[in-house]
Amino acid sequence: MLTVGCHLSASKGYAAMVRQAMQLDANTFAFFTRNPRGSSAKAENPKDEAHARELLSENGFGPLVAHGAYTMNLCTADEEAREFAASVLADDLRRMAALPGNFYNFHPGSHVGQGVDAGIAYIAQALRKALEPDYPVTVLLETMAGKGSEIGGRFEELRAILDAVGSAKVGVCLDTCHVYDGGYDIVNDLDGVLTEFDRVIGLDRLKALHLNDSRNPFASHKDRHECIGKGSLGVETFRKIVNHPALRGRPMILETPNELPGYAREIALLRRLEAEIY
Ligand code: FE
Ligand code: FE
Ligand code: ZN
Repeated sequence: MLTVGCHLSASKGYAAMVRQAMQLDANTFAFFTRNPRGSSAKAENPKDEAHARELLSENGFGPLVAHGAYTMNLCTADEEAREFAASVLADDLRRMAALPGNFYNFHPGSHVGQGVDAGIAYIAQALRKALEPDYPVTVLLETMAGKGSEIGGRFEELRAILDAVGSAKVGVCLDTCHVYDGGYDIVNDLDGVLTEFDRVIGLDRLKALHLNDSRNPFASHKDRHECIGKGSLGVETFRKIVNHPALRGRPMILETPNELPGYAREIALLRRLEAEIY
């Protein structure tokens, strides 16, 4: 069975998200660990966390994919802002102990003119500092569209971060809109892109996917998500993705421009696409 879900609002707590996911026929979900545009995190609520853990295991959920704040740029140029971002990462990773065994995904960052190598060094440094060996979380670097000075638009850049951190608890989350916008042609050659991913990063490091169609053409480096089947990727690309043996078992998260009913329809569509082949 496909492990599929969507991005949900964390405003009512963890247990409420699990119940919401079940109503959508999801068996995973994503959420922002804090206000996506700001940096404030909610007060921790051990009762809600325990309730959520119980619901997740009783209902056979796969791993969740938490998402770090967009504003957290670990390789920004200003030293104070960079240190603040690193402290946000450290606090997020500590908080993931509330939901052990799940993933924490984030955008590696934008080097804002300092150069890719400097950016990679800052990102790796922050991760080495934040990721305590006993934390029950795996951190995921998201593949990016390569907009502006974004790091992570090339598989080689993610490989360099993984190498510099040197921890098995860091992996990659592949975003379908981002890789296509970034110049990896998953529409015409999904096998070739996955072979390239395996060669550069290793498929064992691929832990989760973001399923988004794209508003823009191939290699546009734009990053505008579209609903499944309504953009340049098309429904057939998603049929291949949900049925690809190399991707089986990974949580797949929708970040499409939808309200909850739209997400429910897309989850049903993806489950149907999987059923139609096997
Ligand atoms: Fe993202
Ligand atoms: Fe994404
Ligand atoms: Zn995006």
